[in-house]
Amino acid sequence: MDDSKYRITVTATQLAALSNATETCSRLVMGQMDMALNWLRDRDGNIVSSYELTKAVEALTRPAQGLAPNQSGGVGWHESGDAMWDIYTHIRHRLAWDRAYSEGVISPGEPRKWPDMSGVNFDDPTNLVGPPIKIEQVDPEAEGHDDDCPFCGSSDSAYSTNGEGDFFVNCLGCGAEGPVASSLESAHHLWRRRKRRD
Ligand SMILES: [Zn+2]
Repeated sequence: MDDSKYRITVTATQLAALSNATETCSRLVMGQMDMALNWLRDRDGNIVSSYELTKAVEALTRPAQGLAPNQSGGVGWHESGDAMWDIYTHIRHRLAWDRAYSEGVISPGEPRKWPDMSGVNFDDPTNLVGPPIKIEQVDPEAEGHDDDCPFCGSSDSAYSTNGEGDFFVNCLGCGAEGPVASSLESAHHLWRRRKRRD
């Protein structure tokens, strides 16, 4: 078994999209078509799901999944759906609690506050399949600033021009020089790219 682990960095909006994606796919596996079809869209982005459409889809998918006409699957239907349900509940939990912190509903370390935090999003996430998932908000202070020197970490940078009118960023801490570019903007861009690559 491959026990490699990964860390990904996304914005809150992108995390919310992952939440929708994992919820939808999990509900597909479970045969909860009414909720899975909430994400069906026309070319203008409008929701196209309806009672009739859901019933028509269910008439085909329920027998195919081995579900009775009025039966809906759920957590535990199949491991592949449970794995996505774990991811979904971890994301919705993280987003809900972080929103409560940022809106001042509670402070970090405080227990869940009722009834302000009564929604299911605040419930403990599930760990149905595999080891627990870790999602935490990135601390912008710990990330450093874009223009920090890739060699000494100094935030003191300046720019210079060479004799041909080109620019480069240079560090006032250690004297390192960035790549030469035809504009100051692209000199900064190259300085930042150099940081990421190194
Ligand atoms: Zn430096």
